[in-house]
Amino acid sequence: MSEQTHQTDYDVLVVGAGFSGLYAVYRFREAGLTVQGFERAEDVGGVWHWNRYPGAKCDSESIYYNFTFSEDIYRKWTWSSRFASQKEILCYLHFVAEELDLKKHFQFQREVVSAFYDDENELWKVHFSDDVTVTAKYFIAATGCLSKANVPPISGIDQFEGEWYHTGDWPVDEVDFKDQDVAVIGTGSSGVQAIPVIAKEAKSLTVFQRTPQYAVPANNYVYEHDYIDSVKKDRSSIRELMYSTRLGMPTDRREVSALDETKEQREIIYEHAWNKGGFVFPTAYNDLLISEESNATAANFIRNKIRSTVQNEDVAEQLCPEYYYAAKRPIFDSGYYETFNQPNVSLVDVKQEPIEVLTKTGIQTTKTLYDFDKIVFATGYDGITGSLFKMNIHGRSGQSLQEHWQNGETVQTYLGVATDDFPNFFMITGPQSPSVLMNMPVAIEQHVDFITDLIMNAREKGSTNVEVVQAAVSNWSNECKTIADYTLYVKTDSWYTGTNIENRTSRFPIFVAGFPIFKQICDQVIQNDFEGFVMS
Ligand code: NAP
Repeated sequence: MSEQTHQTDYDVLVVGAGFSGLYAVYRFREAGLTVQGFERAEDVGGVWHWNRYPGAKCDSESIYYNFTFSEDIYRKWTWSSRFASQKEILCYLHFVAEELDLKKHFQFQREVVSAFYDDENELWKVHFSDDVTVTAKYFIAATGCLSKANVPPISGIDQFEGEWYHTGDWPVDEVDFKDQDVAVIGTGSSGVQAIPVIAKEAKSLTVFQRTPQYAVPANNYVYEHDYIDSVKKDRSSIRELMYSTRLGMPTDRREVSALDETKEQREIIYEHAWNKGGFVFPTAYNDLLISEESNATAANFIRNKIRSTVQNEDVAEQLCPEYYYAAKRPIFDSGYYETFNQPNVSLVDVKQEPIEVLTKTGIQTTKTLYDFDKIVFATGYDGITGSLFKMNIHGRSGQSLQEHWQNGETVQTYLGVATDDFPNFFMITGPQSPSVLMNMPVAIEQHVDFITDLIMNAREKGSTNVEVVQAAVSNWSNECKTIADYTLYVKTDSWYTGTNIENRTSRFPIFVAGFPIFKQICDQVIQNDFEGFVMS
């Protein structure tokens, strides 16, 4: 038993039972710490528990979208196809939890409502919605970057007499769209996946689009047995490949500027990437997110594809985006644009006719009242900081994290792991780590390993407190900003910049220089005896 349990209920309290929570609980347990996980849902899965909407799939390739720390687990699990469905990924996470015997360490349907650092006793007091308080030395947010669903503040939601859903908070029971008049609001990754599937079933589907999107085919296919068998035998090289590539998974990124090739060459490259599907397209050239001119070549190619796919010319034009390609999260589709050729599908541009209110029967725009049986909000998330703020975390000075970061406008961390004034509080794939710009399971493994090493190092030294120094935080934040300012990300409204949330000023809390550089920096920090952290 740990020497610290006389002071606290547990050494470590982990919030979340998705990829990061499961791996964190496993690592802390194996390190000999007492650990307790808490999860809002009734079982493990994290975002893959909640995102049950029709068509939900991953767009990282399955053989890379999993843990690689265990040979045994990697060999035992068999993926069916290149891009796994939500159902299959959820099964995988249950499988991992059972293989590692992790479920017994979690309490489910327990939601954090607030957390306070008790400076005098050097411990965290975490309060739950059922009025219970739990204490722990270390408080770990394994809450994911996209966990707080964003239902826009459209008035009248309570009046609507039909049913409404959010893609990120989907009910466990199947939703039947047969013979129904359905609205989908939002055309990000979730909307683009759900729309073709709902359109097949619904009597009518009306898509409310605010910003048209660039979607590139996913090109999913079933894996062949021989391929999967060979992959399983090669876990260590797969892992090495994942850890050494920018996105945490191989993408065939070509180290060529789009402007160094002729128009004809580019057409061939883009056509090839289009047919291969997935992340091959956004990585066709190395400067698509740096050079406006290069970016325009990819954007034009996709707009031409939209025009040649969608039969109604007006609808095709409405579906053509103008923003910098891939500066919002790239989207991969299965028949999205083709869906607008179906007679039961129509498009409403909410920039032309904004939604005013939800009525008893449907959606009132500035021009028309549309009646619906069901409304689907595919309106995304309060990303990156939303799930952290929701826990109402207060640091040493009593200030909340939300206040500390001025409601998300001045997010400041060290390596995305910790922030000043919040001792012994660690975030997995937190703000200013590569997180959402890469394949998450790899980012999670690396971040959890780093945090475990940090805590164990502190304990070996007899330290009870690990805290990051303010200078390390401001240097890291400046570095992240300097690099991001070279890119088109910061010139585009998106959930990356937080501007999808009403009244939020743009910020860009992501480390954009890629995973290998990030890992190298973290390894250097470890070698330098965790420089930037104070252990007291
Ligand atoms: P999202 O990308 O933020 O898209 C939300 C959509 O809702 C956008 O089209 C947005 O328009 C629209 N919207 C928001 N508020 C609105 C309002 N008040 N009125 C009308 N439209 C409104 O969210 P998401 O589609 O859920 O995807 C979020 C992220 O989750 C993805 O980028 C991805 O990282 C992850 N995800 C991944 C997968 C996958 O692996 N394939 C699938 C789903 C989600 P604007 O563009 O104008 O803001």
